Amino acid sequence: MRRFRDLSIRYKLTVLLGASAAIALLISVALSLALAFVTQRSESLRHLQQIANIASDNLTAALAFRDGDSAERLLGSLYVTPNILIAIIHDEEGLPFSVYPTVSRKQPVVTEFVAQLPQLLKENHASLFAQQKGLSAIELHLMYTITPIQFDGKTIGTLTLLADTRELKQKLVYFVAMQSAISLATLVIIAFISIRLQQVFTAPIFSIIEVIRTIAKTKNYAVSVKAVQNDEFKVLFTHFNDMIAEIQERDARLCRLATTDVLTGLANRRHAMEELQTLVTRAQRKQEFFGLVMFDVDHFKHINDRYGHPVGDMVLKEVAGILSHLAREYDLVARIGGEEFLVLCDNSDQEVSCAIAERMRQGIESAVIAYADGKTLQVTVSAGVYATCPQTEDTAAPLSRVDEALYHAKHSGRNRVCIWEPI
Ligand code: GH3
Ligand code: MG
Ligand code: MG
Repeated sequence: MRRFRDLSIRYKLTVLLGASAAIALLISVALSLALAFVTQRSESLRHLQQIANIASDNLTAALAFRDGDSAERLLGSLYVTPNILIAIIHDEEGLPFSVYPTVSRKQPVVTEFVAQLPQLLKENHASLFAQQKGLSAIELHLMYTITPIQFDGKTIGTLTLLADTRELKQKLVYFVAMQSAISLATLVIIAFISIRLQQVFTAPIFSIIEVIRTIAKTKNYAVSVKAVQNDEFKVLFTHFNDMIAEIQERDARLCRLATTDVLTGLANRRHAMEELQTLVTRAQRKQEFFGLVMFDVDHFKHINDRYGHPVGDMVLKEVAGILSHLAREYDLVARIGGEEFLVLCDNSDQEVSCAIAERMRQGIESAVIAYADGKTLQVTVSAGVYATCPQTEDTAAPLSRVDEALYHAKHSGRNRVCIWEPI
């Protein structure tokens, strides 16, 4: 069996609510049962005493004049009380004068009681005769009462009634059955209520878990939990939403920092290499062509030397802007070195890649860069092109070939585009 603390909150709450209700009901049933037992017990005994009092009043004359027939007849009227097992009249000497029923019910309890009765009468003789006080007791199965029969202010004998406690037991059984039925019905209602009630607590918890799961699965922090209750959950949700918004922002900033070149805003070398791997893998899977174009600014050292480093930076930014502007939407332009750029051309063969390279080269050649007080400068770039339909996922070979092509462009006069060719 699973341990309680490992259960879902939903079940824990239901069990807790149900168990507390059950304990409360159990205590209340036990207490009312105890109360009922005590009151019913004294009620039953009092009832027996009342019968004994009435009977003893009626029996006075019969005993005083030792009229056995009348005594027997009067005792016979006790049949209306079926729980009376035996009724015995004793005279002043403690001798039996009349017995009801005349035919003895040979129950062991009755026989036992009758056997002990003379002793009981003897022991209580003083209180029964001198003080004229009755005597009664109730046990689990039996109850009895011994009442003085008085004549002329004097006790002339006793009436003993022995009764069973069947009625009392029946009443208690009925009481327990009623209480159990009521408790059961109450428990069912409480269970139903607790199931509804636990949702008030568990629904917000489950909604936050759902959002956390989504984030863990998609790594997307652009989600939030909505509070429907104006309680502590709302505070929790607000803080949670603030926290994931902050994480989202930090994530985006980190991602930008990790993938962007600070000077030009283009993709950096690392990002370009990751994207190249993706591009090669996809092209190999789909058996498509992809193209690489590598640019290097011609005599850039000279620009730095002549105009200063800040102007050099400005030139790099201008070149980056032109390359981005002339690239297609799905091409990636990256700065992979000081004044070196790489363009990843998705789904492009040699012809297309070459056209892109040439368009960009011309764009840079024709650009007039103003650097200070109406002064302008112009730069050129050399480009290498390599396009292939890859047979492996290797990225090193395409990179080295496009580099070779660029080297070739440099050495054949610069400001030109060269395609990689096998030597
Ligand atoms: P080539 O035509 O053969 O490419 O000649 P080059 O002068 O461009 O080649 P070289 O590799 O010798 O020089 C590149 C220069 O680029 C050297 C370096 O100082 C400069 N450089 C590298 N990164 C930056 C940068 O971020 N800003 C500036 N202003 N200059 C840079
Ligand atoms: Mg260089
Ligand atoms: Mg250069």
